[in-house]
This record gives sequence, structure tokens and C-alpha cells, in this order.
Amino acid sequence: MLDLLIKSARLLGESAPRDVAIKEGRIVEIAECIEQEARHTVRAEGKWLFPSFANMHTHISMSLFRGLGADLPLADWLQKVIWVLEGEFVSPEFVRDGALIGVAEAIRSGTTLFMDMYFFEEAVARVAEQAGIRAGLGFGILDFPTKVAKSPEEYLQRARSFIQEYKNHPLLFPVVCPHAVYTCSPQTLKKSLELALQEGVYLHTHIAETQQEVEACVEKFGKSPVEHLHSLGLLGEKTLMAHVVWTTEEERELIKETGAVVVHCPESNLKLASGVAPVSDYVRRGIHVCLGTDGPASNDNLDMLEEMSLMVKLQKGTQRDAKAMDARTALHIATESGFKAVGIKAGKVEVGYEADLILLDVQKPHLQPLYDPVAQLVYSAHSSDIDTVVCKGKVLMEKGELKTVDLQEVLFLAKKWKDRIESFLGSKILN
Ligand SMILES: [Zn+2]
Repeated sequence: MLDLLIKSARLLGESAPRDVAIKEGRIVEIAECIEQEARHTVRAEGKWLFPSFANMHTHISMSLFRGLGADLPLADWLQKVIWVLEGEFVSPEFVRDGALIGVAEAIRSGTTLFMDMYFFEEAVARVAEQAGIRAGLGFGILDFPTKVAKSPEEYLQRARSFIQEYKNHPLLFPVVCPHAVYTCSPQTLKKSLELALQEGVYLHTHIAETQQEVEACVEKFGKSPVEHLHSLGLLGEKTLMAHVVWTTEEERELIKETGAVVVHCPESNLKLASGVAPVSDYVRRGIHVCLGTDGPASNDNLDMLEEMSLMVKLQKGTQRDAKAMDARTALHIATESGFKAVGIKAGKVEVGYEADLILLDVQKPHLQPLYDPVAQLVYSAHSSDIDTVVCKGKVLMEKGELKTVDLQEVLFLAKKWKDRIESFLGSKILN
């Protein structure tokens, strides 16, 4: 008995529709006609089957701050808006409700894995678990006190107990998240590394996001952020570095040699005016690159289709070279490369791969005529064209309808927090 059977989907490299059989979370057979019985069957006539997306850097609960301080640069946005609001509002309830809104959005736009860094991650874990979406979750570790912890030791302790609770979960995995070189002392960064090594988990941090960060790091430590992390031993294959916008030739070689992973967040980097990461150069050098949206309050959404399209066009446009990056590379970066960075064999529609999949409805004027499905996925499709989403063999959305998240609850919670946050802000101007 199969768990899921997808009938008559169009697949890349196949001239006619195919059936795809899924058992225990994996693709077990792809053939012209599979007759075997299945617990659930999805009819996919007229739709294309692609791998789902891996959003490798976000702060999902920040969906509740979406649109606030919309036109500020990073330092002002953090200091004048985000840290003020977080000081007032962040609680397990806030994190849980924000995560539910974010998870609903992520599923609807075809994402089945997100890497999160925030506070009260137990609340995100419960939402992700119920929704059936994969997530790599980590408590942000900082030097300064917040509602979550008073000292770096206390943050690390919270991170340690979270790791122990979620270490062997089928969908979730804990991660150690020192926030950045400008919010963590060398001591805190080293202790974060020790914790990750002891527990055998991934490290996830922000690095080289703005020129200002690089200059301040050089002034303080005599090294750039990447060199600084390397000198503390933090660069390695199990380290995911969000942003990496500002790097020298030497630093790029260092990243390549150590196997550290770059998580490119083009839209957040543009919106916060941080710059454009030289990501096609990273790819050419053989650096492991994946893609993330960053939090929904600096993007301002979790749409990986949009992110992928923007990534390619930015590289072409800033280099004035149409070959700087192509649609196939973009799709690989947004899918298989992300999953691979955290040891998950997904991101391809092939037998033996995890069944993390989307069905794209191409019966729409903006997707017709359909000559090149990959180019049209990257350059023409909207996330609203995603009809069905499967994570580890489980259907999370079918024919546009969420199966594991209550959309009415999502909208109700958004309204509840809008009222609370607006009444706190009063007449304060955020832009
Ligand atoms: Zn971030």
C-alpha cells in the first residue's frame, strides 16, 4: 500500500505525464501508469511536478511586524523599530501566533523546510510539528539581555535544553544560532561553537550583511567578520552563514576551503539597502550557496519563487551579463542545495529522494505557451500558481487548500496582534 500516489503529472525530462508513488516519505517509483493502491491519490493532469523550496534563513514569527519601519536601513530598523517592539511584545504567545501566520504563508508558496532563528523556539516547534513542515530551529544567542535571557550563559542554556528536547524529531532539528559578530562577543561565539560540536548540530548566524558591520568588526578585532569567525573556528561545513554580502577574494577562498554554507537573502539585502551579494561568483568558485527570504519583516514576505527570480535577475543586471546566472542554477539553489546543506536528500523529483514536492498549475495565461518549464517557473510563475504541496510524503496543501493549518485562525490572529501593536505605537511614526 502506497501512502500517496500523484497521477498524471508532468515532470522535467519526461515527454508524457507520469505517475509518482510515495511511501514512508520517499519517492519509490515513477512510471507511466502505477496501479498500486494508495491511501491518498492526487490527480495532477495539466500540472507540473517540481521539488518544493528550502527557505534557509528566516525569523518566521516576525510576520507580526511585517510592514513596520518599512523604509529604514538595517541599523535604524533594528534599533528604532524591531528591538523596541520585541522588548514590548515577544512572548511564547507572540512567537506561536507569528509562526502560524508564517507557516501558512510558507506552505502556500511551496516551502517545506525553513531555518529559523528567534526567541521561544519551542512555540515555533509546536506550530511546525502540527503543520507537518520541516524546520531547523534555533534560539538566537545574544550578549545583551532580552525577555528570554539575561546573559549569554542563560541563552546558551536555553539553546542546550531546546536541543535536547528536539534532537531526534522526524521533521524538526535544533540548531545553534549566535546572532552575529556585532551582537556576540568572541567568547559567546566560541561557546556557541562548543555547544554545536558537543550536540552534533548545525550553526546558523548572520555575517557580513552590511559594509558598516565589516568596518566596525575590522576596527574592533582587526579582522573582517568572515576572518573573525574563522579565527574562532566557526567556519565549517555545518555552519550556515546568512547574507555574506561584503567579502574579499581571500574571504571567499576561506569560505570555499572550509565548506561553510552561504545563505543568500537578496530581497532583504535590497530592502534594507545592504547591497547585492556576489553570489554568482560564489557559485563559480564552488561555494555551497542556498537561498533564504530572511524574516517577513525585512522582505516583506516568505515567497521563495520571488526570491529565486530576484536572485537571478540581480546577478544578470548588476553584472550586465545575461549568463551571470541561469534559471536552472537558481532552481537548484532554492531547492536541492538548501536541503543538502542540512543533510536532507530532497530537492529532486527522483526515486530515492524525499517526497518534498509542489504541483504548479500552468493552465494560466501568464504561463502559456509553456516552452521551458524551469525558465517559466523562475521568471513567470507566481506563488499563487502553486496548487499542491507535499512535505515528506504528506499533503500540506491540495488544490490551493491548506490541510494542516486553519486559514481563518491565521487571519484572526493577525488582526489580534495588529490591534495590540497599533495601540502600543499610538502616534509613533516608524518610517
Ligand atoms: Zn536574519
